[in-house]
Amino acid sequence: MLRLLAHQKSAPFRRYLAIHAASIPSTVTRHDWTRQEIQEIFDAPLMDLVFRAASVHRKYQDANKIQLCTLMNIKTGGCTEDCSYCSQSSRYSTPTKASRLLDIEPVIEAARKAKENGSTRFCMGAAWRDLAGRKRGFERILQMVREVRGMGMEVCTTLGMLSPDQARQLKEAGLTAYNHNLDTSREFYPQVITSRSYDERLSTIDAVRDAGISVCSGGILGLGEKDEDRVGLIWEVSNMPEHPESFPVNALVPIAGTPLEKNEPVSYHTLVRTIAAARVVLPTTIIRLAAGRNTMAESEQAMCFMAGANAIFTGEQMLTTPCSPWDEDKAMMDRWGLEGMRSFEQVNVARKEQPAATLFDESRNKERASVVVDA
Ligand code: SF4
Repeated sequence: MLRLLAHQKSAPFRRYLAIHAASIPSTVTRHDWTRQEIQEIFDAPLMDLVFRAASVHRKYQDANKIQLCTLMNIKTGGCTEDCSYCSQSSRYSTPTKASRLLDIEPVIEAARKAKENGSTRFCMGAAWRDLAGRKRGFERILQMVREVRGMGMEVCTTLGMLSPDQARQLKEAGLTAYNHNLDTSREFYPQVITSRSYDERLSTIDAVRDAGISVCSGGILGLGEKDEDRVGLIWEVSNMPEHPESFPVNALVPIAGTPLEKNEPVSYHTLVRTIAAARVVLPTTIIRLAAGRNTMAESEQAMCFMAGANAIFTGEQMLTTPCSPWDEDKAMMDRWGLEGMRSFEQVNVARKEQPAATLFDESRNKERASVVVDA
């Protein structure tokens, strides 16, 4: 394996491996983790946990690469679901006003701007339960997917529940990834959402995976859950037939008018602990530091990267909460020697992009594939 790793182009990465490879703990991509095992990882002294996560990160991925993603809300508010953290639910009185599905052109313009600013993944979110009765809207979204994908970007959507046929159509349009968060553990989930079951969420994730689309599924911290629920979430995704290619970790941003408006923010140490435990258990997954990042100090963000986070949302706005802007993020990354990931650089995502080999550096990707297979 070391011979293959030596082909990596990044000099710091090669240097690191030369010094530390022998001491990196052996970890394989496993799908049979027990909750007890994950709980023990989660409960380790934080410095030991972060060191272990950083070691696993360096074994499976280039830890100096961060994926820059930009998120756009293409249909805001008016959602019939009752997710108790969400300002877009029509069941709560919040500052978010409902709007119709956007036209194609402003969305493509936003994707163009994101690409110019260095984002390599563009994610489009629509606030609704599912696509039932939205035939024309779905056709418009399929066209958005085609056009963003045609720009050479990774393209992701989050559109609620999907049928297998809808997933297939999204795949044919060129969709790279689909976001459908499990949010929390199966046990705690009913305290947060009652209008859609955990198993319905898993069915949509199955449809996405079966269609050959990368799965983006993670959670939210600060919902009132306990450590065992954070562990339960990681356990749930670790036991999927394939680990999700992306695992977003959100810190709740309480929104006035929602049932969780008075929740205490999750502690920073719990956030780092969750990221690090996820990194150990999901070694080849992109771990996405998502909502709540803009309130964190740069040193706190850097510790999250050390613990294994390797993607951020950057730009003008998350779906409904503030986002750190591109220029600030670029300056931060420069200070820490971090580089942006190229589109389709992550091997697990690239693997699903048949026959799009021309859109990424295939030789580099083969090196990464060899590293993972050989590990
Ligand atoms: S999180 Fe999504 S599904 Fe839930 S209320 Fe908000 S927009 Fe609707």
